[in-house]
Amino acid sequence: CAVVDFDGDALAWEKQGGLLPAIVQDADSLRVLMLGYMSRESLAATLASGKVTFFSRSKRRLWAKGETSGNTLQLVSLEADCDRDSLLVLAKPHGPTCHNGTASCFPQAVGDVVAELDAVIAQRKVDTSESSYTRKLFDAGIARIAQKVGEEGVETALAAVTADHDALRGEAADLTYHLLVLLQARGLDWNAVRAELARRAGG
Ligand code: AMP
Ligand code: ZN
Ligand code: ZN
Ligand code: ZN
Repeated sequence: CAVVDFDGDALAWEKQGGLLPAIVQDADSLRVLMLGYMSRESLAATLASGKVTFFSRSKRRLWAKGETSGNTLQLVSLEADCDRDSLLVLAKPHGPTCHNGTASCFPQAVGDVVAELDAVIAQRKVDTSESSYTRKLFDAGIARIAQKVGEEGVETALAAVTADHDALRGEAADLTYHLLVLLQARGLDWNAVRAELARRAGG
């Protein structure tokens, strides 16, 4: 992981008065969450604590994101750009990142919606208190979920040769959702599939 051997000394700190812009992305969905500024000290604090910590330009002090709201950003990885004057931070958000209560500070920012759906499904799997269609599927068991994937696969194939774009799109969405539930039921997730696809693309 990039965190372990990250060398803060190699960054172009003096180019911009000791503060480097840091773009934060959700590590799972890759949605852009916010932009903050990091000083040497805030970078060191981030690496030491595992909690993304900025230098607040208004407060003129270190600002551990979530220090009052509890909406922290758990560091996953960190990298510098080509000329080492900006940072890209991947993090797992706990709660909404924006102080307005939204996941991202950028209202239109979208990430990988499949990854976001996968996160919702993973939550449904462990949360037995709420009733939902997903909850019912998990309760019905792996054989039932596998059967649903088979049905939706057939429906998708049929729609591809007999139906219009709207129907095919709908069936493909049904298939994708049920496939994610099946993977979660077996203890796999979308990241595992994404990693496999990336591995194939890379060689
Ligand atoms: P927090 O770091 O979440 O405890 O929030 C502390 C204060 O920092 C808030 O009252 C806001 O003024 C500010 N703040 C929190 N989150 C953001 C953000 N994503 N972008 C800009 N300012 C923020
Ligand atoms: Zn740059
Ligand atoms: Zn915001
Ligand atoms: Zn269907």
